[in-house]
This record gives sequence, C-alpha cells and structure tokens, in this order.
Amino acid sequence: MTTAQPGMVSLVGAGPGDPELLTLKAARLLATADVVLHDDLVPTAVLAQAERALVINVGKRCGRKNISQEQINAMMIDYARRGLLVVRLKSGDPLVFGRAGEEMDALRAAGIHFDVVPGITAAFAAAAALHRPLTDRRNASSIIFSSGHHAPGSLHQPASLAGASRVIYMPGRDLKAIAAQLRSEGLSADLPCVLVSRAGQPEQQIVQTTLARLEGVPAVPAPAILLAGEALRDSQPAQFAELASRALTTVGDPQSLEL
Ligand code: SAH
Repeated sequence: MTTAQPGMVSLVGAGPGDPELLTLKAARLLATADVVLHDDLVPTAVLAQAERALVINVGKRCGRKNISQEQINAMMIDYARRGLLVVRLKSGDPLVFGRAGEEMDALRAAGIHFDVVPGITAAFAAAAALHRPLTDRRNASSIIFSSGHHAPGSLHQPASLAGASRVIYMPGRDLKAIAAQLRSEGLSADLPCVLVSRAGQPEQQIVQTTLARLEGVPAVPAPAILLAGEALRDSQPAQFAELASRALTTVGDPQSLEL
C-alpha cells in the first residue's frame, strides 16, 4: 500500500448517521479513500460507502478501548506518509466536539497536507427531526452549543445570551445536574426541553418535556442530544406528534407543556 504520491488526510464529517445526509464530497472521498479511521458513532450504513478502503474503528468506546489520541494521530501520519489517501471520519461535523484541533496540530507538526470537509452536526439533525427552528425571530436570536461531558462550567450562559437556544452535546445520564445548572442560570421551569436519541437514524427517539421535569426523563439510547429553548415551543401538540414521525414520548402532562 505504498505509492510514490504524497499522501494526505481529509477530516470528514459523516453527518448524523444517515448516508443520504453525507455531503457529495464526503461520499466521494469515502469511495476513493485508501484508509478510513472512524469514530464509534459512525454507523455501518455510512461506512459501507468506503468500498475499497481499509476501515479501522479508532473509537474509544467499542473500537479500541485503550487507544490514545496520540496513537490515532500517529496512525493518520503513518498512513499518509506511505502515500495513502486517509479519511479521518467523525460523526456530525468534524470540528464540533471531535478533538480535531489536536489532530490538525499533529498533522501540521508532521508536515502532512490535510483538508476538512464539514458535516451536518447533531444539533441540526435533531432540530430537523423536531421540525422546530433553533433560531426564531420571535424568541431566539442565538444558539449555544455546549458539552455536558467532563466540562465543568461549560454550560455557563453569558447574560447577553439570555433567550438563546441551548444545545447540549453528550448530556450523559445525569439530567438532574444539567437541569439544576440551567435553572441556576435563570432559565424558566416551563422552558421546552427535548432529548433526541439517534437523530436522523431509523431508531430515532424524541422525548419532549420541560426544564422542571427534565430530571424525570427516562434514559434513551446513545447518542443523544439535549435541546432547550423557547424556539422549541409548539402550540399544536397533535401536529408536533404527527411531525415527529418516529417514537415520541412526552414527560409530564401534555396539556401543561404546551409543546
Ligand atoms: N462531531 C459530532 C459531535 C461529537 S460528540 C457532531 O457534530 O454531531 C458526540 C455527541 O454528539 C453525542 O454524545 C451526542 O450528544 C451527539 N450526537 C452525535 N450524533 C448524534 C445523533 N445521531 N443523534 C443525537 N445526538 C448525536
């Protein structure tokens, strides 16, 4: 697998998991790649696009439990130095909560040419699943993406962003802590909150509730993302349920939720 051509690395966004939500560029790169190094969250339907590549799961959950970021960096560099086209495939968008900063630093330091192909991030897939906007000129003029995972204080909301739609990646199972944090930032008890599991995939599940009832939400399969904000409020619950075509759960009294 060594060629005379200089190799390169493409950091590619796989989108939320539906192959039809890959960009044309991502699909072309997958089809022509020599090596694909992917994260756990990329499903087989997307990996199937990589017809001729050596496909390696470098995810830390079910892929290789002990793989370090340094080892992933070394693999990218090593394959590229052999003259191969390496696709570093990340779920959603590669530059959102994906450690791409560290990987690009390593590639730069090694003098490896790379490019970045954006993808549809989970926040946008979740909003599409809900048929709700993330901004709405009537009530939400900004969006905050934050991580619920290993990031103390990351939910902090600057006062100037009151009224923003909140999108919390990696919310984990401790929704009580997230709810307490959001309440401490002054967000109201009846703020619409929606948990979307496996957005854009056949197993998609939607749980709609309010901030006050968030802690009572049952666990949903990973990956899941939490959205909160006035822009998610829907005055026609029946229509909401109909639009969210797959599994939909409401935690709390639907009448009082006004979702
Ligand atoms: N780069 C990715 C995010 C990686 S962090 C992106 O842009 O989407 C991993 C987190 O993303 C998961 O814990 C979950 O919160 C979210 N996520 C990724 N894919 C998802 C999906 N299909 N449905 C819901 N949440 C998803």
